[in-house]
Amino acid sequence: MRKIGLFGWILIAFAIGIIVGAIVGEPMVALKPFGTLFVRLLKMLIVPLVFATLVVGVASISPAKLGRLAWKAIALYYVTAAIAVCIGLVLANVTGIGTGMPVGELAAVEPKVPPPLSEVLLGIVPTNPVGAMAQGQILPIIFFAILFGIAINLAGKVCEPLFNIIDGIANAMFKLVKIVLYYAPIGVFALIGWIVGTHGVGILAPFAALIAVCYLGYILHVGVTYALFIRFLGKINPWVWLMRIKESPTFAFVTCSSSATLPVTMRVCQENTGMSKETAGFILPVGATINMDGTALYQGVCAVFLANAFGIQLGFGGNMIILVTAILASIGTAGVPGAGLIMLMVVLGAVGIPLEGIALIAGIDRILDMGRTAVNVTGDTVVAGIIAHTEGEALLPGIKVGTATA
Ligand code: ASP
Repeated sequence: MRKIGLFGWILIAFAIGIIVGAIVGEPMVALKPFGTLFVRLLKMLIVPLVFATLVVGVASISPAKLGRLAWKAIALYYVTAAIAVCIGLVLANVTGIGTGMPVGELAAVEPKVPPPLSEVLLGIVPTNPVGAMAQGQILPIIFFAILFGIAINLAGKVCEPLFNIIDGIANAMFKLVKIVLYYAPIGVFALIGWIVGTHGVGILAPFAALIAVCYLGYILHVGVTYALFIRFLGKINPWVWLMRIKESPTFAFVTCSSSATLPVTMRVCQENTGMSKETAGFILPVGATINMDGTALYQGVCAVFLANAFGIQLGFGGNMIILVTAILASIGTAGVPGAGLIMLMVVLGAVGIPLEGIALIAGIDRILDMGRTAVNVTGDTVVAGIIAHTEGEALLPGIKVGTATA
């Protein structure tokens, strides 16, 4: 492991997984449990890691700074999400994807119904924090952890022992992340091999244009929007930044889960960019849960794709409705595989596109999910990096590249 480094092994596993998956095909489904094991190991870390790092992060920040960080984060989340949807809408409208797509047998798939917005908002406040932890509900855990951290901060000296214990848990969880990552190459091989083996090339062909437009959008958003933001607001070379955090989008790509990738994101941000524990501990868990630019972009593209397929004229007004609802729907999307497809129904419903349309996309959604999740976590690191810079943190200098990959 020493010489090649963990990231090198992951790339090798990734490449072998694609080749083996393409050759072996459908029987690769037998490897799925090895990939599932990897995702389960990552998920095992989420609740204690999010709770401990968030409490420690918030408790170490003054309430005034906390408010400032929150406002900066929210502003950046909204602005970048709006740009993401605009990129998606422009690309989809210019290319006219979906026109002439046969939509014949769609009623066969029963769409799941997204919960009403009021329920989603109320659900953020846990009636039982321990219950929320037991069920792995991230938003309620974040809500409680932030208040708990503020309370520890306000209580001062009397809560110092409690703070030290939770800080100890956070440190132990980081060690555990490191241990779990030794399994990563096997997990990555199994996941990518399974996806390539079961999806094959045939199923993708009719959707080649949709996949190409989504991925073009993802690349533009990372290569232009994020590059400009991190360059001008974070004063960091975008390429250097991408190289420091590259493990995070790689894991997101194969796991299709921002939440499961969070332990890796927190590790690369702290170890490879020098981001402080407070900023990483506060901004990254929140970002992994609500900052989903890749998802917003995908929803914009898919809405236009389906409108074209069903022969619905959206016009400027329809596109604007998609813009607003895709931003909101992406914020409400959970950081788990396929969540964006379910929330796409909110967008479709808002402009009167038949919800059955998601059946068209469902078969290839995993392929689109990989890219959008990679964009989502890249955005989380970019926002956290910008905030760290504006808070006067010295990012990058003196940090040896790849310390988190050894
Ligand atoms: N899989 C995405 C994520 O975890 C969410 C989505 O389905 O769009 O970030």
